[in-house]
Amino acid sequence: MTSERKTRRLIAVASGKGGVGKSTVAANLAIALARRGRKVGLVDADIYGPSQPRLMGVEGIRPQAREKVLIPVQTRFGVPLLSMGGLVAEGQAIAWRGPMAGGALGQMVDADWGDAEILILDLPPGTGDVQLTMIQKHKPAGAVIVSTPQDLALIDARRAIDLFVKAQVPVIGLIENMAGYQCPHCGEVSDPFGCGGAEAAATALGIPFLGRIPLQIAIRLASDAGTPPAAGTGEPADAFGILAESVYQWLER
Ligand code: ADP
Repeated sequence: MTSERKTRRLIAVASGKGGVGKSTVAANLAIALARRGRKVGLVDADIYGPSQPRLMGVEGIRPQAREKVLIPVQTRFGVPLLSMGGLVAEGQAIAWRGPMAGGALGQMVDADWGDAEILILDLPPGTGDVQLTMIQKHKPAGAVIVSTPQDLALIDARRAIDLFVKAQVPVIGLIENMAGYQCPHCGEVSDPFGCGGAEAAATALGIPFLGRIPLQIAIRLASDAGTPPAAGTGEPADAFGILAESVYQWLER
């Protein structure tokens, strides 16, 4: 292990369940931190649905290797990326058992990340053995938990938090995604998944609340197009900026 690797810190982005926007948050957090001058790499460890190559606009590009060490794929956002999705043929179902997934994750974490000081780790959703092994083996410096405001998602988020607490990984905080929907036609804001649930849960659990990301068609469209909103300007970029500021401050503490 090089001294470079020792000083590199892993930030896990996790959620109790799928579909809450964990990968979206991980990609935008990485980009927003890079825009603040941090050297950041992104590891897509979501074996069930690796979506980072698409989000980061490098779908179909497979990583090279030098002397069996993987070389991350460069993206347009100054954030190099390695994804489970880049290690298997496109469209091939990823039904790996724990040890195989663990081996692939190890290769990605120990890849040639150059001068990256932070690796954002997009974990699979849930709290199974695979996640626990990953957390124990790679010891993230901290974890960001993503949840939607609904009770069901929050119950799962609590489990995810518990997983990190048990593994003695500091929880940086909870971020609420899909928080309020602003109608693009009339401008009225409604709360399809409720409002404020994640903040209340964070307070009850004694962990920091890292802010809200609104539910916006523009976020989904930008993500699908491979240009995460954090790379641009406007409201969603600002919302991800607030999250990145909190993580930045936490890293500096
Ligand atoms: P997860 O990683 O938790 O499974 P994703 O990040 O893949 O979730 O997001 C699931 C879907 O929801 C994607 O189509 C994504 O573009 C969309 N999405 C995520 N966050 C938002 C948001 N704040 N507003 C609109 N769409 C979102």
